[in-house]
Amino acid sequence: MKRTTIHVLAALSTFTTAVHAEGGFYGDAPDATHPWAIHDMNRPQPPRVEPGKNGAAPSDAIVLFSGKAEEIEKWQSDKQPAEPTKWEVKDGVLQCVPGSGYIRTKEEFADCQLHIEWSAPSKVEGNSQGRGNSGVFLMGQVEVQVLDNYNNPTYPDGFASSIYGINPPMANVLNAPGEWQSYDIIFRRPIFKDGQEIDPGYITVFVNGVCTQDHTRLEGGGGHMRRSSPRPFPEKGPLKLQDHGNPVRYRNIWYRPLPKRAIEGGDTSLMSEAATAAKRAGIAKGIREDAAKLEGNAKMYRLLESLCYSDDSAARETGLKMTADFIQALQDTPADKIESKKGEALQFQKALNYLTKFKILPEDFPAKKQITEIVKKQEWDKKK
Ligand code: MG
Repeated sequence: MKRTTIHVLAALSTFTTAVHAEGGFYGDAPDATHPWAIHDMNRPQPPRVEPGKNGAAPSDAIVLFSGKAEEIEKWQSDKQPAEPTKWEVKDGVLQCVPGSGYIRTKEEFADCQLHIEWSAPSKVEGNSQGRGNSGVFLMGQVEVQVLDNYNNPTYPDGFASSIYGINPPMANVLNAPGEWQSYDIIFRRPIFKDGQEIDPGYITVFVNGVCTQDHTRLEGGGGHMRRSSPRPFPEKGPLKLQDHGNPVRYRNIWYRPLPKRAIEGGDTSLMSEAATAAKRAGIAKGIREDAAKLEGNAKMYRLLESLCYSDDSAARETGLKMTADFIQALQDTPADKIESKKGEALQFQKALNYLTKFKILPEDFPAKKQITEIVKKQEWDKKK
């Protein structure tokens, strides 16, 4: 694409956003399972998150280990009752002490983006599952394997970044032992309702920036030797790191909780009709509260816009009265001043066309007929 074309497109994009921001009536209207219109400025803006610079965690991350000795307090031995862990923090690194047992976070959480870096011992010892073995256990339930597979074949469903006992990684992108490896994991736990699985749960993994698990089904979480079956997970659980007898090192461990899925009452995926209707009612209420602070055309447009989400007799009555007043004012404008009303009139026509197109107002609604006649008479619909 030519640079000039890109500039023009960028300018157009800014322009359409500016026009759109003025009053909606733009993309396809909300429907039974989508509470917002396409390109809806009523939809909340994404919250600002400062990205981590030079390997640091992003601003909204919950840091589980960043290299500070005192962060060992966020972890404990995976025993009942828990004890302080014997794993060690040395030179900014959390290291497994073989034979001391798994460790787990004191904090419990569920769906998340998890970042964790690990390094297998540079002194290569053992083979297959015996070389640089540890593991990242999401919620303590499902293991993303940590293993030195740089030059070390093993059963593929137990390979580094396999979902252990379930699915091998798509590639071996490990660095050499002694070097650091990063895992970036997106984890969604299984959800059951009344004993029925309604979401099997999934894991996506990037190893050193390369995708190795793409939305892999959990199938109950996997395990050693036995095929697991779908099962509910708890509401939340700790992150566990495995002691498999090798002094594997960890650093830069943080997570970000993920928003609820629609099936849990969130609005991050396809919503049910009942949840959509409730959401639309809430959006409409917010718009009407906004309208109450406005005057004139701005108020009229907000009231009419609110009807796209949920009907309300008072909003409809006031909005329609204001459309009649708008037309009256236009009809009362002296002929020598009418041209100055062109912009307002076309905006009004656009809004009414939208509202009738999506059947929010009836096609034969009087103001629509009247504005169409005025626009036609003034030839504002003709390109000049
Ligand atoms: Mg392991």
